[in-house]
Amino acid sequence: MQMKKLAALVVSVLVVACTTVQTTQPGVVGVDRKQTVSPLVDSKALTQEAGLQYQQTLQAAQKKSALNVDKAQTARVRRIADRLIPTVAAFRPDAVNWKWEINVLSSKDVNAWCMPGGKIAVYTGLIETIKPTDDELAAVMGHEIAHALREHAWERASKTANAQLGIAVLGIALGQPDLTNSVGGMAYQAMFGLPNSREQETEADRIGVELAARAGYDPRAAISLWDKMGRLSGGSQPPQWLSTHPSNQSRQQDLAVYSQKVMPLYEQAKAKGG
Ligand SMILES: [Zn+2]
Repeated sequence: MQMKKLAALVVSVLVVACTTVQTTQPGVVGVDRKQTVSPLVDSKALTQEAGLQYQQTLQAAQKKSALNVDKAQTARVRRIADRLIPTVAAFRPDAVNWKWEINVLSSKDVNAWCMPGGKIAVYTGLIETIKPTDDELAAVMGHEIAHALREHAWERASKTANAQLGIAVLGIALGQPDLTNSVGGMAYQAMFGLPNSREQETEADRIGVELAARAGYDPRAAISLWDKMGRLSGGSQPPQWLSTHPSNQSRQQDLAVYSQKVMPLYEQAKAKGG
């Protein structure tokens, strides 16, 4: 191994680790954390990959007759999404023009997600177990939409790419240069396998209540919603996507503060007939 080559690789690792981006404007809730991403992971490619995975998920559900089975339920979820989507302009105007898709999947899992680029799924298990009010359903969807606006998946994929690159550098040093080829692929694969960090969850909570308020949904519903979610851990297993979410108590306190902050937006939206 030539030391020069290794040194160049190490430098490139340090460089790729240090790119910061601003995905969203801070909004009234003031989310302004600087995000670090890896140039190894292209945001557009990630969104494209998400779009493909979404179509595959829908096709698989269709085959099992598990796609938008209950027409009234689907209409309800889409009605709420239709009110939430225009409000994303407060955080990133370009997202208003994303190719949003909203579908309900029949599954016992208490789950909902929004992939990069605005591909939303709400599981019947969430609707039937939690029995959310419209305000509470808007809280879940606002939270998931916020993850997509902040491109949290991009951050996660970047972390993986950089970690893999570190391994690749080591691999080259050990005479196994093949490892470098797998860096990109692994990052994309990891995108949906890795949980959000606690920090990302808190951001999604705060942006979520603002989106809901702007859409004319009571932002305080987020408090009761996550309370219901937290109580699921009683008998059955808590949903996997909840396990990394902030502890119930700190989350409730944060939501109480931030839902109060966006109450004027809610009152305005309601006055406009939202
Ligand atoms: Zn989340």
